[in-house]
Amino acid sequence: MRPASLKQQASSGGVIFRIVGSQYEVALVSVKGGKEWCLPKGIIDKGETPEITAVREVQEETGLSGRIIAKLGDISYWYYIKKENAKCRKTVHFYLMEYVNGLTSQHDREVDDAQWIPLERALQMISFKGDRSILEKAQAKLTHVYSLHEKT
Ligand code: ATP
Repeated sequence: MRPASLKQQASSGGVIFRIVGSQYEVALVSVKGGKEWCLPKGIIDKGETPEITAVREVQEETGLSGRIIAKLGDISYWYYIKKENAKCRKTVHFYLMEYVNGLTSQHDREVDDAQWIPLERALQMISFKGDRSILEKAQAKLTHVYSLHEKT
């Protein structure tokens, strides 16, 4: 077989959070029949900024609207696209988003499920280490915000 060609893709997504009682919850999506739990994200369309894509993809994949409050960072990974015999390097930009409104039951068909999950549990459930590193950054930022509130 001829060697795989190389591709690059850029996506953008978010960690959308809310406070329930004394804990943070974040929205995760499941794909591959529930085998993988991931952060919501998607391809940056032509003419979009990464911020616009993140808000749009979070809305589409989770059913939830959010407002960006901070950039969390970027991750990169390689995967194989069988039908194109191509190796793809994907970079994903991630943002921390405050929940505004919407219901996870309104998630689109790109994902199998969307759920609000306590942050500590989400860190255990998430399938990929890149996504986990982004959740850890979100946790650090949220803890900082919370401790600032406690001091005032
Ligand atoms: P997008 O959501 O950006 O539109 P997609 O759903 O087509 O893209 P990905 O979610 O990037 O594609 O999935 C492509 C492959 O990469 C799958 O095999 C998936 O299991 C794997 N994958 C998804 N997220 C990660 C990650 N954070 N780290 C490593 N591999 C991942």
